[in-house]
Amino acid sequence: MSEKFQAVVIGGGPGGYVCAIRLAQLGFKTACIESRGSLGGTCLNIGCIPSKSLLNLSEEFHKVKNLSNKGIEVGDIKLNLSKMMKNKDKAVTILTKGVEFLLKKNKVTYFKGTGSFKSKNEILIKDDEGKEKLIEADKIVIATGSEPVPLPNIEFDEKIILSSTGALNLNEVPKKMVVVGGGYIGLEMGSVWSRLGSEVHVIEFLDHITPGMDKEISNEFMKILKKQGITFHMQHKVEKITKDKSGVIISTSDQSGNKKNFECDVVLISVGRRPNTRGLNLEKISIELDEKKRIKTDKKFQTNLDNIYAIGDVIAGPMLAHKAEDEGIAVAENIAGQSGHVNYDTIPGVVYTTPEVASIGKTEEQLKEKNVKYKIGKFSFMANSRAKAIDDTEGFVKILADEKTDKVLGAHLIGPHAGELIAEIGIAMEFGASSEDIARTCHAHPTFSEAVKEAALSVDKRAIHS
Ligand SMILES: Cc1cc2nc3c(=O)[nH]c(=O)nc-3n(C[C@H](O)[C@H](O)[C@H](O)COP(=O)(O)OP(=O)(O)OC[C@H]3O[C@@H](n4cnc5c(N)ncnc54)[C@H](O)[C@@H]3O)c2cc1C
Repeated sequence: MSEKFQAVVIGGGPGGYVCAIRLAQLGFKTACIESRGSLGGTCLNIGCIPSKSLLNLSEEFHKVKNLSNKGIEVGDIKLNLSKMMKNKDKAVTILTKGVEFLLKKNKVTYFKGTGSFKSKNEILIKDDEGKEKLIEADKIVIATGSEPVPLPNIEFDEKIILSSTGALNLNEVPKKMVVVGGGYIGLEMGSVWSRLGSEVHVIEFLDHITPGMDKEISNEFMKILKKQGITFHMQHKVEKITKDKSGVIISTSDQSGNKKNFECDVVLISVGRRPNTRGLNLEKISIELDEKKRIKTDKKFQTNLDNIYAIGDVIAGPMLAHKAEDEGIAVAENIAGQSGHVNYDTIPGVVYTTPEVASIGKTEEQLKEKNVKYKIGKFSFMANSRAKAIDDTEGFVKILADEKTDKVLGAHLIGPHAGELIAEIGIAMEFGASSEDIARTCHAHPTFSEAVKEAALSVDKRAIHS
């Protein structure tokens, strides 16, 4: 007889494991199936966490190398890449084991293997050795995430032609790296290897990097990255990638049809991610997909089948770990008859380069497109005393507020700790705050957060320090 659960989650990433824990907290007999052999999904194993570890360590390396400019002589600085990688792997292991502990603590049954639908209430789990187990569930949540998109006819070998996974695991610093795609993952990984000594070139099809980001911020971001030594080739289309003895040749053409070849040791293809529904046997139970092959859901994350739900990267919306987590909690609460929901207007996005870039809510371009009348408040970190004190003054805070009501509609930051500062604006927006509410809130001195307050003051042209 097959084991029976009240709820089963397929996928143990930030969407899946969080959902499983919440379901268990709500009293469901819950199981979570994960095929990777380790919990935490893309985020903990090959995404957010290892990339942030390398971003931090490479930034430390870069900073220490430049300390003598600030009067601190530290002698010969050497890179030990294998130790750096071990450090990154240690962070991953600790966190993924931590998730396993959390599942156990919450009495969630963890199945290691690949889940596929046998019927709308039955899932077949196949482990690495080919052993099969059938389980039954009243409610099923699909949280199988996403995977990198390759270029047509070009396969990742993860040694020379890399996805982000390969770029997180190189065992030597490439002399020259080409990054195809100017999105946040490519720029983060490009920054890591540039700081460690690679000559990094970014090839982008569009005329700007980080599509969807407020244009003013994205332009400033590109300027800063160029100053750091990254070279950009905009409006270039990759036509072919050929391996040769010494590395790879990337053939491109620009808008006027001019051809150009780039030779490099490794190429990182970072042109987006696609939903991962392979192997789930969705056809068998006729689950509907949308035009981008994502699982179609309603506002309650329910698919076209009443007992099956989907969340995270495998459905529409920004492919971000915190979006997946929030959907995981909301769907669990909906399954329990509560009113879980996610506010898609207040999902922050952060790029963990130096400086960090963070956004929330509407961009100026989106407000213009929707004919919304808005006011702008801006404040440069150049005039922020904390930033001045530690000589970290690149970037600015930009707040967009409704022209009539002053309600905060969006905020876009580039600068030190932007990824932390954005949380204040998230809370303000959740509570429907005006820019004046932020401006009248006392902020500690000297802190970077004073730049947020000053930007809010600047919405009505009353910033004090600029
Ligand atoms: C390099 C990189 C850096 C990133 N940095 C950030 C960041 O800084 N911040 C951020 O918010 N996001 C970041 N992301 C994105 C983030 O990792 C994803 O948005 C997030 O992991 C999505 O969560 P998820 O639970 O939907 O899916 P996933 O994390 O992809 O988890 C899905 C899991 O399901 C498993 N699975 C798939 N099919 C089956 C099956 N049939 N049976 C059993 N298990 C299955 C997979 O093995 C996987 O572990 C980054 C991604 C990458 C690649």
